[in-house]
Amino acid sequence: MSKAHDYIKKAEQQKDLNTFLFMPEPGAVRMCDDGELKNYALAIKDNIQIKDWPTTASSKILDGFIAPYDATVIKKLKTAGAMLIGKTNLDEFAMGSSTENSAFGVTKNPWDKERVPGGSSGGSASAVAADLCDAALGSDTGGSIRQPAAFCGVTGLKPTYGSVSRYGLLALASSLDVIGPLTRSAEDVEKIFQVISGKDELDQTTIDYNYQPTEIDWSNFTIGLPKELWQIELDPEIKAQTEALVEFYKQKGVKVIEVSLPSSDLALPAYYIILPSEVSANLARYDGIRYQKSAEAKNLLEKYLHTRANFGPEVKRRILLGTYSLSVGHYDDYYMIAERVRTQIKKEYAEVFGQVDMLITATTPTPAFKIGEKASDPIEMYKSDLLTVAANLAGVPALSLPVGFTKAGLPIGAQLISARKNDNIIIAAAKAFQKETDFHQQTPKIK
Ligand code: GLN
Repeated sequence: MSKAHDYIKKAEQQKDLNTFLFMPEPGAVRMCDDGELKNYALAIKDNIQIKDWPTTASSKILDGFIAPYDATVIKKLKTAGAMLIGKTNLDEFAMGSSTENSAFGVTKNPWDKERVPGGSSGGSASAVAADLCDAALGSDTGGSIRQPAAFCGVTGLKPTYGSVSRYGLLALASSLDVIGPLTRSAEDVEKIFQVISGKDELDQTTIDYNYQPTEIDWSNFTIGLPKELWQIELDPEIKAQTEALVEFYKQKGVKVIEVSLPSSDLALPAYYIILPSEVSANLARYDGIRYQKSAEAKNLLEKYLHTRANFGPEVKRRILLGTYSLSVGHYDDYYMIAERVRTQIKKEYAEVFGQVDMLITATTPTPAFKIGEKASDPIEMYKSDLLTVAANLAGVPALSLPVGFTKAGLPIGAQLISARKNDNIIIAAAKAFQKETDFHQQTPKIK
């Protein structure tokens, strides 16, 4: 029996994790004996289109929608011989940090089923952690690959903005969105990133990008510890394991210095102005006429209202926030200022990478939290992204890798960040750590 078949069967046995929204019949999985990814079974976040498969973005508004074409990343995976085994659960339209905003129910963390897997790529992270696939694709707008990777104990890369085509990805915030891999090892992250990256004529924001693996010369390497991000209140076990990671590189002979990113505290507020603003524009297309079954209605306005009632509360909240931030009279007070903050953050990151090769921070302030614990408090939920959003605003690559476990047995992730187009540096650094440790190879005993 094929590997894809085994994974699909295993996923059925683990149905209560609620990881997959759709899986094909095992016999329908495309097999290939050729290509760089010929032995890889991949799970794909359900905001990335695969031709002839349902695509919902975990929203009722797209219930019944069948993708008419392949996203560029899917085309590339197919050409490389990968097997596609299913579509994974996410927060509705990738808005969230816990997968609790999915219209199809929360995904559970395989390390502790009472806890969230993180979000929005919670299904993809959970699928890798529970060993229901070899690797998965997610999307990261403010942390949605790295935060669930940290919560589930897997390796996740948010690549340089523009290095991977967004064609066929359902847009959240177009100026921040990027597709990237979640897998067990940095080695597999590299393999998949090499396949999916590159310029695409169908996405004008893609850059000339030809990924080249690199070897790090440790004797000539400087790591920066951004003091503002180390001052954030961190769970003590997360702090200790992130420090242990820094120590690992120190032993290799690198120089470690404290650096400053003075606008760090403005990143989250700016993100929560810019993101909803783009959401309010991007989600206007779900109007009941184009993608979904038409709602019964007496007239056009009623059709529109009936259709949009299918958005969940978080999506509605962000459309309202964004419409307000962009409106006449408020634009100068909100959107314009947030854009200025973004420019400043970009500048600070560019400057810091004049001094150091790589930054290290924790990925999240806390380990995976309990289902329901933060669901009623959006601000508390937004704080899970304190350490991740700035990389999206700056457009730089960032990777989360497993660095240990809490005493209670929950995975801990740490974050490596490098300059634009230097994805190869953080991947090489993660590979070096994983060569000598086995946190990334641990699997949960699912009860
Ligand atoms: N958790 C963040 C948010 O809710 C990030 C989402 C994402 O990266 N897609 O916006």
